[in-house]
Amino acid sequence: MSVYAGMNDGTARLNILCDLRSDTVTRPDAAMRQAMAAAEVGDDVYGDDPEVNRLEAELAEMLGKEAGLFLPSGTQSNLVAVMSHCGRGEEVILGRPYHVFRYEAAGASVLGSVALSPLDLTPSGGLSPEAIRNAVQPDDPHHPVSRLLSLENTTGGMAVPLPETRAAADAARAAGLAVHLDGARFFNAVTALGCAPGDLAGIADTVSVCLSKGLGAPVGSVLVGPKDLIARARRHRKMLGGGMRQAGVLAAAGRHALAHNIAGLAADHTRARTLAAALTALGAGRVRQATNMVFFAPDAGDAAALKPALARRGVLIGGPAPELRFVLHRDIGDDALDLAIAAFRDHYGG
Ligand SMILES: *Cc1c(COP(=O)(O)O)cnc(C)c1O
Repeated sequence: MSVYAGMNDGTARLNILCDLRSDTVTRPDAAMRQAMAAAEVGDDVYGDDPEVNRLEAELAEMLGKEAGLFLPSGTQSNLVAVMSHCGRGEEVILGRPYHVFRYEAAGASVLGSVALSPLDLTPSGGLSPEAIRNAVQPDDPHHPVSRLLSLENTTGGMAVPLPETRAAADAARAAGLAVHLDGARFFNAVTALGCAPGDLAGIADTVSVCLSKGLGAPVGSVLVGPKDLIARARRHRKMLGGGMRQAGVLAAAGRHALAHNIAGLAADHTRARTLAAALTALGAGRVRQATNMVFFAPDAGDAAALKPALARRGVLIGGPAPELRFVLHRDIGDDALDLAIAAFRDHYGG
């Protein structure tokens, strides 16, 4: 089953007390809905939507970039970034488990005519300068032209340290490549690294940030970068069908998220540590935790059975067997976390 697949076995009808499948399940709260209802809107394809314009400018400013572009999804934001950096027959170097390589239906290749060259990750989730140098193609008509390094942070929950991220970007730049950062969970990374947004964003030319994961907005991502590239990205967004009209109702949710929901990410990370400690204490399998994610490989090999057993107790989990993924987010408070931990104890008799 896909990491992102829902429960297609009827459990959706049960009372869901704690949904650990992903931080994408977060729903807009009352204050965010109020901000959406009050949004001043216009036709964004004409550049007339004030809320969208404000969101793009605010996130660009926060990350120290010239311009921003609001898009319907992180997938489209990454695709538009790749298409704006690379031409037909050119190549992106990236991590093998990264979203752009594994979870975007190969859109960069299918729709962008761009080749993808995947590398294995370092233990901290980054790409080694040596591996990058070896992957850059020599100037030879047999090969695609290496054009872009695409990083991801956080990746698999891991906040890749700044020095390692910088070293990878330096290796790419020395070979004439540009650098994109898939920062779907950019603010989880910044929170865990304890750095300013500009410290991480400054390493890359373009950064894609999701508003619809831990930040709690219902829809949307923003791509930030240099003015001329964002102008090209705007054309690609239209080409891909991502030009939205009165999108200010969505941008208002994103602006609300940036203003109010970043600080809460630290609490998600703390709750992930609490869950990891409780699972470790059960002694039922291998546990890993990074930022807001916990990964669990049960010794009993009962990952497939665990899902419906927990679902019957109102706890939803994700991830393909043998390693399950539990994601903490703003809709899981301490009470919901306690319920989840009790359900795990129940199941394993702890
Ligand atoms: C979720 C995610 C995306 C894509 O975002 P969607 O809005 O779901 O298309 C891209 N990259 C990473 C690392 C993600 O986790």
